[in-house]
Amino acid sequence: MDFHCHLDLYPNAREVCAQAVERNTFTWLVTTSPRAFTATSKVLGGHANVLITPGLHPEIVHDRFAELANLLEQIKHVSAVGEVGLDGSRRFRHSYEIQREVFTAVIAQCANVGGRVLSIHSRQAVRDVLAVLDDHPGFGTAVLHWFTGSLAELKVASDKGCWFSIGPAAFSSASGKALAKKLPRDRVVPESDGPFAQVNGAAVMPWSSDDTAELLAHAWDLSVDEVKLNLEFNSRRLIGLIHTAD
Ligand code: MN
Repeated sequence: MDFHCHLDLYPNAREVCAQAVERNTFTWLVTTSPRAFTATSKVLGGHANVLITPGLHPEIVHDRFAELANLLEQIKHVSAVGEVGLDGSRRFRHSYEIQREVFTAVIAQCANVGGRVLSIHSRQAVRDVLAVLDDHPGFGTAVLHWFTGSLAELKVASDKGCWFSIGPAAFSSASGKALAKKLPRDRVVPESDGPFAQVNGAAVMPWSSDDTAELLAHAWDLSVDEVKLNLEFNSRRLIGLIHTAD
């Protein structure tokens, strides 16, 4: 299973996709722009266990905000959305106001159409992401991907009912390990965030959920089998929420 993967951006995307179809029960392919969603749906679409969703990545919003209307239209016809969100890190500060406009419009649209499941980027922007969600009750279900906020922010997000997707690369730092310990265990699913996320210089692959289970088992002081069952159970629930939004 993989709940956040840029399958279309691996150098050998067709081959990686074919393997993901075989090896995973479920792969969520998040696209980074409305046009990428359309193109990727044509090239990699048609597999029952690969969910392809429209998004507008905060790191490219400054180039692509003109595609917002297209994204809002696409959201009407899908059950899940991503990758969307806010990035408050220094590199993308310059586009923060436009990012916020785009993200607010996306969340408002999700609420308008009865709720969607969203894979959300929140690097150095957790408070603002949560504020936008708070302003739009009925937006659906938020899955915060590769959460890197503070422990206090994790608690706030968790208390609001957010889900979390986490992959092997998140355990590379001490702060990532500390956060992993505190994730709400009934709302955690595996992700790769490949090919961007890397471990030991290699892109994390979509079939890395067993590695994530091992890392979580260590963080939670449980057996790997217990964590695998837990992740499977959570994954089924989240896929159920996606289907309900259909
Ligand atoms: Mn991503």
